[in-house]
Amino acid sequence: MKYIASCSFGKDSLAMILTIIEHGLPLDEVVYCEVMFDDTISGEYPEHADFIHNKAIPILELVYGLKVRVLRHTWNYKSECFKLRKKGKYEGTPVGFPLRRGPWCNKMKIHPIRDYRKEQTDEVHEYVGIAVDEPERLARLTPNKSSPLADYGITEAMAMEICQEHFLLSPIYETQVRNGCWFCHNARLAALKDLWKNYPHLWAELRCIQSISRVSFKQDYTIFDLEERFKKEEAQ
Ligand code: SF4
Repeated sequence: MKYIASCSFGKDSLAMILTIIEHGLPLDEVVYCEVMFDDTISGEYPEHADFIHNKAIPILELVYGLKVRVLRHTWNYKSECFKLRKKGKYEGTPVGFPLRRGPWCNKMKIHPIRDYRKEQTDEVHEYVGIAVDEPERLARLTPNKSSPLADYGITEAMAMEICQEHFLLSPIYETQVRNGCWFCHNARLAALKDLWKNYPHLWAELRCIQSISRVSFKQDYTIFDLEERFKKEEAQ
């Protein structure tokens, strides 16, 4: 049996890993799947990407002696947006932003994990970071998965404290309510406004994609509409 811990480097994942260590549970590998915007820019918010690669992974490897595997799809978001459609009504035009229903970008998260599982010769048991106060998510656990946080009665608030105590809390919690790609079409308007205000170089990337995209970034807003809205709000 191979024991892996799925980790997003959010508070629940990291508190789970610290709980596994504290209680001496078997653990062979920590597995993290990173969606990339392009060859060099992560899909994670910059402060979270920096935390993952320059703090959390080194601490897990050097302090706790864990093996951390970073998985990535061969695709990246930007190059997929610029790919030309090979068939259909819009053949020859750029793919552009993902549709809200069944977005293609999900594959960049799902496929590397699926392929990693296929590569394993041993049966895999996966630890997932679900707190004891998340009953709906716990109810969906399959037999090959378990939640150390739930097994040891750890809530989401306790997970936050555990990470703080071990200097392993991502700075993302100071600025974002939701952990996900900075270019996510499901992001709240407040998060997108934060991106527009504080990360103009990333916003410029989205403007560029919108200019070749048939699909608007969000259901009711293109990137340009959002920009107008944010400018008006700031002027008030
Ligand atoms: S977080 Fe959003 S942008 Fe990132 S893969 Fe998921 S749906 Fe796509």
